[in-house]
Amino acid sequence: MPYQIQSRCAACQQGDIFLIGDWTRYYGVYACATCHKLVNIAVTEGTCPGCGVRPAVADYYDYAASIPYLGGQSPHKLAPGPDCLRCGQATLTFENQAHLNMGSVVHNEADAKTTWGMDYMEKAIFMNSAVPVMQEFNLNPAKVFAYFHLHLPDAPLVTRRVSYPIYLDIRTHLMTKRLMQPDQFQ
Ligand SMILES: [Zn+2]
Ligand SMILES: [Zn+2]
Repeated sequence: MPYQIQSRCAACQQGDIFLIGDWTRYYGVYACATCHKLVNIAVTEGTCPGCGVRPAVADYYDYAASIPYLGGQSPHKLAPGPDCLRCGQATLTFENQAHLNMGSVVHNEADAKTTWGMDYMEKAIFMNSAVPVMQEFNLNPAKVFAYFHLHLPDAPLVTRRVSYPIYLDIRTHLMTKRLMQPDQFQ
């Protein structure tokens, strides 16, 4: 699931590398004004690895509209990223550099369950991105979420956005599962 993303500023040419999609390990992507970087915040720490700040749920960067699939593919015009944290002279753009193995998320049951009842950006984007797949193939949401070791949310999530690369990955993964066991998610 996870993808490795490179940010880039057109003005100063600098950028950062971070991951998206692994909600079992990361709360999400945070634009740290102290470190002048985009960083992943680990679930085990909850703090910026550079400066130790602990972002609130609403402070994470919602990348869903701005990050394309591999090769820059996107079904919609990409939204601009945040202002460059180093020079402030341009908004950041994102390159999707690599797709990492989905198994690292799917099989991380113990870490997944420690996040039950918690709403945060990375998990909200993942949940939202599963919804169009469930609708397209008429899957049972409870069974799909159980497969990913997710709880069904009982309140609105921190974001309603779908990430195209994460949606595509969930779609491919579930379709492959269904080839082997067609009624698995009915
Ligand atoms: Zn810059
Ligand atoms: Zn920091």
